[in-house]
Amino acid sequence: MTLSLAQRVTLANKPLGFNALVVERTSRCNARCAICYQGSSPQGKVQKGKKSANDAKDLSPELIRRALLEGSRLDSLNKRFHLAGGEAFLDAELCLELFAYAQSLGYYDITTTTNGFWAKSPDKARILTRRMREAGVTNIELSTDHWHAPFVQPTTINNCLRACLEAGISVNLRLLATHEHTHAATLATLDPYLLNHTTRITCGPVFAVGRATEQLSTEEFFRRGAEGRCFAVLNLAIVPNGNVFPCCAGMDHTDGLLFGNIAEQHLAEIVHNINHSPLFRVVSYAGVSRFLQPLQHLGYPMKTSEEYGNMCDLCSTIFSNRQMVADLSRYNSQLEAEQVRMAIEYLQQSSAA
Ligand code: SF4
Ligand code: SF4
Repeated sequence: MTLSLAQRVTLANKPLGFNALVVERTSRCNARCAICYQGSSPQGKVQKGKKSANDAKDLSPELIRRALLEGSRLDSLNKRFHLAGGEAFLDAELCLELFAYAQSLGYYDITTTTNGFWAKSPDKARILTRRMREAGVTNIELSTDHWHAPFVQPTTINNCLRACLEAGISVNLRLLATHEHTHAATLATLDPYLLNHTTRITCGPVFAVGRATEQLSTEEFFRRGAEGRCFAVLNLAIVPNGNVFPCCAGMDHTDGLLFGNIAEQHLAEIVHNINHSPLFRVVSYAGVSRFLQPLQHLGYPMKTSEEYGNMCDLCSTIFSNRQMVADLSRYNSQLEAEQVRMAIEYLQQSSAA
């Protein structure tokens, strides 16, 4: 984290923007995929065989409506609403009600993530997707791959793709893979005609986060390294216990650095806290890999940057450890104070010369 003072000044003044308001309403899901980064299951979040007391409840509809209303007034938030879970469609009627409310507030891009379990028959799929479109839904992110397939069959995914096509809802088919279980193998189970008419197919690797770390062997993961910055891909993400995070890519399932809870604070106040977090500004603008050297210096046995799956893998590792975050925070403030002291000394010497 050897940022110069000039870099720190730039970091401190650039306001953060968010691409969407993401609501992870529940940690419950009809499935229990081995790669679930959230650790979802029919009983809620389960990790290392234990149920998480912190995420036991679903986020209440009243709080979601309040967040939508407050979000609609935030200049730094793009007017996109994304509803996710767990599996949000365990309560489809509530989803429809929230989509319609978002539409009435002026959100113009209304999207959702689902595993498509509700499309069990062509008729059921048609009825729900038609109602979704009427409620303002523009796109669904449909998750399927080797680990989803035991819970949601390819025929159900085909029903979902066909119904979305008919209803005018675009689909982003989201596939994950490891060295052993490839994207091509999943695609081969789906209807080629429907695949040809799918708006987008996003193929990504399974990363070593959440339940995947417990259920997959380390050799199975692809590794991209921890370099990168995320300021352009941030979302305001609200998790089931009401905590608000600046992304939904891993940090949202940590508790080392909290910014606020929607049940206790206004969204604008939480955005202010995110914007003024020195550690988060380093993560978003300079990259989380900046923390590796200081953490090694502080005595933590960190891996090299190349050994992490990606930046979010390293980020989740750091921000899941409260002690690590506290040490890093102290180190960062001391370094900054020292740099300011040196800059003042330099200016005094220059003006005296
Ligand atoms: S369907 Fe999605 S939310 Fe549910 S267990 Fe699988 S990965 Fe997790
Ligand atoms: S690096 Fe961290 S904050 Fe940035 S997108 Fe990944 S998990 Fe989120």
